[in-house]
Formats: sequence, structure tokens, C-alpha cells
Amino acid sequence: MPAFLSSIRYFRASTLLLAILSHAGLAQQQDAEMPEQTPTFEQCVVGLQQQALSAGVSQDTVSNVLGNVNYLPKILEYDRNQPEFVQTFPGYFSARVTPWRIDKGREMLAKHKEFLAKLTQQYGVPGHYLVAFWGLETNFGGIKGKMPILDSLATLACDQRRSKFFSAELIQALLLLERENLQVDTMVGSWAGAMGHTQFMPTAYLTYAKDGDGDGKVDLWNSELDALESAANFLQHLGWDAGYRWGREVSLPTSFDYQLAGKSNPKPLSFWAKQGVTDTEGNTLSQSELLAALLIPAGHTGSAFLVYSNFDTILRWNNSEYYGIAVGHLADRIVGKGPLAKPLPDLPKYTLLEMQAFQHKLNQLGYDVGEADGILGPATRKGVRAFQTKQGLIADGYPSKETVDAALSVAVPELTQ
Ligand code: CA
Repeated sequence: MPAFLSSIRYFRASTLLLAILSHAGLAQQQDAEMPEQTPTFEQCVVGLQQQALSAGVSQDTVSNVLGNVNYLPKILEYDRNQPEFVQTFPGYFSARVTPWRIDKGREMLAKHKEFLAKLTQQYGVPGHYLVAFWGLETNFGGIKGKMPILDSLATLACDQRRSKFFSAELIQALLLLERENLQVDTMVGSWAGAMGHTQFMPTAYLTYAKDGDGDGKVDLWNSELDALESAANFLQHLGWDAGYRWGREVSLPTSFDYQLAGKSNPKPLSFWAKQGVTDTEGNTLSQSELLAALLIPAGHTGSAFLVYSNFDTILRWNNSEYYGIAVGHLADRIVGKGPLAKPLPDLPKYTLLEMQAFQHKLNQLGYDVGEADGILGPATRKGVRAFQTKQGLIADGYPSKETVDAALSVAVPELTQ
């Protein structure tokens, strides 16, 4: 039993008083005499109740809803859960852009054809992207999550790791509950607080969700039209560039300088054309000044992509390059474009520990990859590129088996003396 549970009964009577005292700073002297302690869940909730009141949540909701939230230890287990293996692009992509999702996406595009056309006109976002987001988020509403949102958010708000973010989301969830007359037990979603067909966090729901079907309610759980219009409105606010696509797969010349790759290095299409980059059929790119960044998520043996500003917009929805490519490609497939021109490469499957050991070794050798967290982020790719260049390997920033073996076999200078 968590330690805080034993103190609950003592706490109820004095919670409000203590909250008022702390708010006024009167409890400071008392605090100084006591050893520093992490607040109990109950204490934390009292603080959240004050914040909720200040944010305009009614006393009734603060007492009867927020006052009755439950601590759910399993939410923190989900939050701390680390995958055993490093996620590779081929693994991620093939699990998401599936024949089922493509077919179902086409079915949904046809089902909502007129409504989606109206949304495209109003918000600038083509329907096949909206359907692709919907498919990736919840399998078109099939998996919306069943965790109690308020309990989940309260648990995360009272955990130190991301307390500020989740406290704010919890308060937005309460405001949403009041505005939409929601019931606590129907506010369900992912363990991290995302809700409905398009998995909106409370802030996004409260700010950007729309009543697409015109029934006077904004219901992302039960209305497909509400969910689709909400996604369109949200994407428009995130900066969707009407009339442009997300990006495209391209082909690279054998002599390509892989140092040019990376989302932080956008260049005009005319620049890429000059480098010998072509479309997947070998046709020259247009001499346009449109900015595009080149991504090689699976290293030089996998597909290369040029991505435009709408790719950044997708990443503002979910900050993952793999996700962005999956959404964009799924949208393309839904409107009948073909599969990737280059087959997904068979990449080594590293455990998180193996990747951390590799990162640690590169740091020891003086190639800064940032924290050895087992994640293949921009810092790791940069350090790997520098190491590959030094070793005369293709500097694509991808930890191929050859690259990892090379790193592990180099002696660390300090240890050789
Ligand atoms: Ca509605």
C-alpha cells in the first residue's frame, strides 16, 4: 500500500486549512522545522483544487469531482515503461501503414466524402490526411482507450516528472467537463490523458474541438464528424499549409553527401535537384524555391524522403519523425499512391541496453551523442555521423552493424595508457 494512503484519513479534515496556510505563506516557518517530504497524493490534490478554483472551475466540480479523484499507480508504470528494443523505422512503419489501415482509410474517405470536401474548403486540410490521422490514432475509432482521464491526469500531475504539464491538462479537463456537461465515468482515454477518435489532450479538446455534426455538443468519443472537423481545425491552427503535401519519397545518387540529411537542414528543392536527388522514378525535381528537408530514417539502405513545412505541422501534433512519415505515407496510400519505392531494409534489432552501450562508447571516444538514453535522436545521429566520417564509413548517422562494431572495437584512449 502506498505510504500516502495511511495518511488520508488524517488529512481530509485539515486539508483546506493547510492549503490556505501554505498559500498565504504562513506555513513556511512550520515547513522549515520539518524534514522535507514529497507531498502525499491527498496534499497534492488540495493544491490542484486551489489551482482549479483560480482557473475558474466551479466549487462544486472542485469538491465533488477533483475531490474524488483516485491515485492510479499503474499510470506511473506506463509512464516509466521503457521498451526492451530500440524502435527502428521499418518496425514502426510496417506496424502502422498496414493493408487494413489503407483499405479502411479508403472506406472512411468514401463514407465521409462530402463532409471531408467541406472541411478541406474551410480549413485547407485535405480529407485523406484527416482520415490518416484518425486511422493512426485510434484505428478509426476502434481503440480510443479506457483509462479514467481525470484519475490518470491527477496521478501524473502529482508525480514530479511532468507535474506542471499534467496539472494544467487536468484543469483543462475539468473545464471541459463543465462546458460539455460530461460524466466522469465516460471521460476515458489513453493513460496519458488523450481522448476520443483523434486522441486530443484536454487543452486541444477545449481549444480546438468542433461540433461537426451540429448537434450542439462537441463529442470526440461518439461523433466521427466532430472528430474529423476537430482534427481539421487543430491542424489549421498548427500551421497547415493549404495546397501543399507533406513530403515525398525520393531517390539519392550513389555519391550523395549524407551530411546534408536531417530535419534541421531544409534547402530549396532546386538545391536538392543540383545534388542529384530525383523522384523515385528518376525524374529531375522542379527548380522550385520550396524548402524541404531530407530524411533517411532507416539509414542509407532505406528510403529517403524530402519533407515540406506540413511535415513540421504533423510533428506539432505528435513530435516523432516516424509518425510524420507514417501519417503522410498512409494519406498518400489512401488516395491511391503506391507503396515505398525502396523496400524497408532489414536492420539490426538493438536492445535499449546495447544502444546505450554504443552511445556511451561514442561519448567516451569524444563523439558527443548527448545522454546515453538508447534513443536515436538528432544528437545521436550527429555524433554517429562524425564517427562514421572519421572511420571512412558512409556517414548517414545510422548505427548500422558495421558502425556499431567499429565503435565497440576502437579502444578508448584513456584506457590504453
Ligand atoms: Ca456534435
